[in-house]
Amino acid sequence: MAGLLFGTGGTPHSAKSPSTIGGIERIAELGLGCMEVEFVQGVRMGEAGARLVRETVIKTSVKLSAHGPYFINLNAREPEKIRASQDRILQTARIASICGAESITFHAAFYLGDPPEKAYNMVKKYLKEIMEQLERENNRVWVRPEIMGKSSQFGTIEEILNLSSELERVAPCLDFAHWHARDGKSNSYQEFASVLEQVEQKLGRVALDNMHIHVSGIYYGKKGELKHLNLKESDFQYAELIKALRDYDARGIVICESPNLEEDALLLQATYNALKT
Ligand SMILES: [Zn+2]
Repeated sequence: MAGLLFGTGGTPHSAKSPSTIGGIERIAELGLGCMEVEFVQGVRMGEAGARLVRETVIKTSVKLSAHGPYFINLNAREPEKIRASQDRILQTARIASICGAESITFHAAFYLGDPPEKAYNMVKKYLKEIMEQLERENNRVWVRPEIMGKSSQFGTIEEILNLSSELERVAPCLDFAHWHARDGKSNSYQEFASVLEQVEQKLGRVALDNMHIHVSGIYYGKKGELKHLNLKESDFQYAELIKALRDYDARGIVICESPNLEEDALLLQATYNALKT
């Protein structure tokens, strides 16, 4: 894939139909390049529906990814909650794969007051089981735990990069707005560049060639993320981020999760294209 593709988290507002297929068609009409299917309230798409989505993906060449359900915690106290979380990730990967998606993302866990190392070991153990199951199913989707925006949530850059280096076919979903919201820092060219350097150091150039990025405006407090905003209503330095991504020749998909979806996705894309020589 040459360069970065831009798109929306969910069907664009201006789509004729709110369906996934309507969304993909609208992405293509707008001249955007990718879309994330939001299974955040549960994976409600069946296999037959997923096969129809795949046809639209092939017809339009829009790159697809999927976001798993919010109700996931691989560090839950109760074994049945962990099993349910694993099933939700597996189900996301199965339907995403039929849809023709290359990549899924999800919110891996909450610390629940545990030391981060303890939570890390739990997440790694249960994610490893998921990856082994997908391997048995010959499912080749990239599984990407997301960088999270609240201090109560598992998912620092270090944690996600370590998981990615330790587990096969696990890679980061770099949510730069979340990373900024976590402590109010990480909002400058230097800091964005330093994240990209960490990615390259830990995972190699191949990781910069195969990125899954989330961007949005964001509002945050002492404990991190409070809500997503449109880029121009927030303090997020998106133009600096785009410049860093361009300078490091990052490739892959950039999913915009601002409330105005395609408006900010187009803004990010235009900012990126203006830097291209
Ligand atoms: Zn997310």
